[in-house]
Amino acid sequence: MDLGKPLVQISRPPVVTILGHVDHGKTTLLDFIRKTEVAKREAGGITQRIGASLIKTKEGKKITFIDTPGHAAFYKMRSRGAYVADMAVLVVAGEEGVKPQTKEALNFILEVGVPYIVAVTKIDLPTANVDLVRGEMEKIGVSFEGRGGNVPLIGVSGRTGEGVEKLLDLIVLTAEVYGLKGSENDPLEAVVIETGKDKRGLTVSVVVKSGKIRVGQTLVTETNRAKVRGIFDSFGKSIKEVLPGEPALLLGFEEIPEVGSKIWSVEDKGESYVVKREEKTKVLNKGKISLILKASTLGSIEAITSNLPPDIGLIYSDVGDITESDIFLAKSTDSLIFGFEVKISQQVLKLAETENVRVEIFDIIYKLFEKLEEILKKENYQVKGKAEIIAIFPFDKAKVAGCRVLSGEIKISDKLILLRNDSEIGEVRIVSMKKQKSDIQSVKQGEECGILLSPQLDFRISDVLISLQK
Ligand code: GDP
Repeated sequence: MDLGKPLVQISRPPVVTILGHVDHGKTTLLDFIRKTEVAKREAGGITQRIGASLIKTKEGKKITFIDTPGHAAFYKMRSRGAYVADMAVLVVAGEEGVKPQTKEALNFILEVGVPYIVAVTKIDLPTANVDLVRGEMEKIGVSFEGRGGNVPLIGVSGRTGEGVEKLLDLIVLTAEVYGLKGSENDPLEAVVIETGKDKRGLTVSVVVKSGKIRVGQTLVTETNRAKVRGIFDSFGKSIKEVLPGEPALLLGFEEIPEVGSKIWSVEDKGESYVVKREEKTKVLNKGKISLILKASTLGSIEAITSNLPPDIGLIYSDVGDITESDIFLAKSTDSLIFGFEVKISQQVLKLAETENVRVEIFDIIYKLFEKLEEILKKENYQVKGKAEIIAIFPFDKAKVAGCRVLSGEIKISDKLILLRNDSEIGEVRIVSMKKQKSDIQSVKQGEECGILLSPQLDFRISDVLISLQK
């Protein structure tokens, strides 16, 4: 036997995603691996977040970790039929054992068919019991190395770092055993893992699966093309090219591609490959109202999507918090975003406001359906008149809305709805309507008037008032 030869030469870093139940230590483990602290980064914005990080083991072997732990990353990739990860680390907390999302994550991994490693986390805790977890995992069908199967299991602590180095070595070893496809000489194929916008313009983070991306190259996706203006690595450093298995942030896109979509070079695919975004959107938009749904678990996504009214067209659903790319997708598909048991950061909320995207978040499922019904009901009404608030005048202790009628007619007896960025602020009645100084009963398109509303609500300039009729 020739012991001197490695099994398979790895030509590129493996791309790894960390999955597991909520609070089982995915983020902590990833942070330990990246030696970065979430708190510091979020406050100071020191480390560039591009959706994946390239790290090096002690032996200098490279590994790329997808930054979004949990289902979000995997699910997005799955929904577009592109699996960016070569391998998964399934995290199970040593003191808690198998939980619902552990099983869900395992099903994902089996469905995608990538090799995986079970990491039992929090082994620094006295209550952690690796053997117990192993037994529970075996009960749900996992067959471990040394016990008739081939799945490695390792105990780790993201807090003390115990076992982490061994885990990284195991990842490298697993990549060597299974081998990785894709070399820099193959045709380019990359996958979009995150999108955003900053002062440099639109940003598109990718992981290269094969081939390479260079500055100046022209790329195509199913919906758009881009000339690469700049490339940055996960440390925010400007680089000239990205090699297989590596993540990078690209500049040069004129439109945001969907997360999970594939990228090729124009030489391989040709210009004609680019499908117009409008054509794609039309196909997706089946209902009267287009919806993007984000929820905390796959279970809730299924519960919601299987009960959606027929007039709702589901554009996209995913597990995870509401992100910038959701806002861009909503903008380009004219959808509203519903979140269930998820969060939205101030930054993303601001983006939603500037992009005029309506976002609603719910904790109770029937409230979500109630809201949908309410929106649909409004959709079935006809807008009789629409006016924009163009000025605000003080009046006694109240304010008068100076309005210009954009379309139709508004009558003094109408019930109005106050909208801001297409979101309803509230219902109001008209107390009085004046043109110059005289009271009037109605105003028509193109005319201006002052309206005293009740209740006053906190209306602002550029809010819109509409009157509805069945
Ligand atoms: P995630 O939801 O899977 O990403 O879990 P987090 O990484 O956010 O961890 C959830 C909680 O468990 C946090 O309070 C962490 O501080 C704690 N935790 C995570 N890893 C460890 C560990 O290895 N040891 C101990 N003692 N606590 C941990």
